Amino acid sequence: MTEILPMNDEHISAVALEKIYFKGEIQVPVLRGIRMSAKKGEFLSIIGQSGSGKSTLLHLLGLLDTPDVGEVLLEGQRIDDLPPRVRDELRNRVFGFIFQFYHLLPELNLLDNVLTPQMIRYSIREYWTKRKELKERARYFIDQVGLSHRITHKPSELSGGEMQRAAIARALMGEPKLLLADEPTGNLDVGTGGEIMELLNRLNEEQQLTIIMVTHDRAVAKQAHRTICLQEGKVAKLAEVA
Ligand code: ADP
Ligand code: MG
Repeated sequence: MTEILPMNDEHISAVALEKIYFKGEIQVPVLRGIRMSAKKGEFLSIIGQSGSGKSTLLHLLGLLDTPDVGEVLLEGQRIDDLPPRVRDELRNRVFGFIFQFYHLLPELNLLDNVLTPQMIRYSIREYWTKRKELKERARYFIDQVGLSHRITHKPSELSGGEMQRAAIARALMGEPKLLLADEPTGNLDVGTGGEIMELLNRLNEEQQLTIIMVTHDRAVAKQAHRTICLQEGKVAKLAEVA
C-alpha cells in the first residue's frame, strides 16, 4: 500500500530569499534572508516602511523577478529556477497582480482593459473565436467588482476606486489562485480604500483565493488574517515597527 502523505497546505513560501541591487558599483542588499509563507485561502498582509523591500519580495513571489539567493516554492515545489517560458506560463495562470497605480491602458475602455491579458494569452485567431465567451466572462467579473455601469468608460472617466476595481476584475479574468497586491489602497482615500479591502476580503472568503497584500498602512494591514513585517530586508517582530 502506498503511504498517504499529509497535505501540504502552504500555498507559497519564500526560503532564505536574498536580493541585491546595484547602484553603480555599490551593492545594495534589499532582501537579506526572508523566510515566510502563506497558506491556501489565507489573506496575508506584509507591512513595512518605504524602502524595506516589500515590492521586491512580492515581485520575487510572483516571478516578476528572480532572487540572488534562496527559493520560492509553490505548493512545496521550487518555481524560481524554472525555465523562463514555464515561469511566464505560471505567472499567467497562477498569479493575479494588483498595483497601487492600477496600470490600466488609457486609450482602452473598461471592458477592453479587463480583456487585455486574454488578448496577450491567445493568438489573434484564438482570441477571435473565443471573444464572445471572453467578453461574457469579463462582464461577469466587472459585475462582481460592481462596475457594470462603467463598462464603456475609459480610465480617465473613472475614479481611483473604480480604476482599482477594474484592475481587480482584470486580475480575476485569469482565474488566479493567488492574488498579489502591492499597496492596492495606497492611492485612495480611507473610505474608498475600505471598499477595496471589503472587496478583497469577499473574494478571499467566497473563492478561497489566497491573497498577499503589501502595505505601509497598519490600519489596512490589520484587515488581513495575519500580518508579517519587513524591516530592512528581514522579517521583523510586528511590535518593533512604528
Ligand atoms: P518598498 O516596496 O518596501 O518601498 P522596494 O522593494 O521597492 O521597497 O525597494 C527596496 C529598496 O530597493 C529601495 O531602497 C529601492 O531603492 C531599492 N530598489 C528597488 N528596486 C530597485 C532596482 N530595480 N534597482 C535598484 N534598486 C532598487
Ligand atoms: Mg513598494
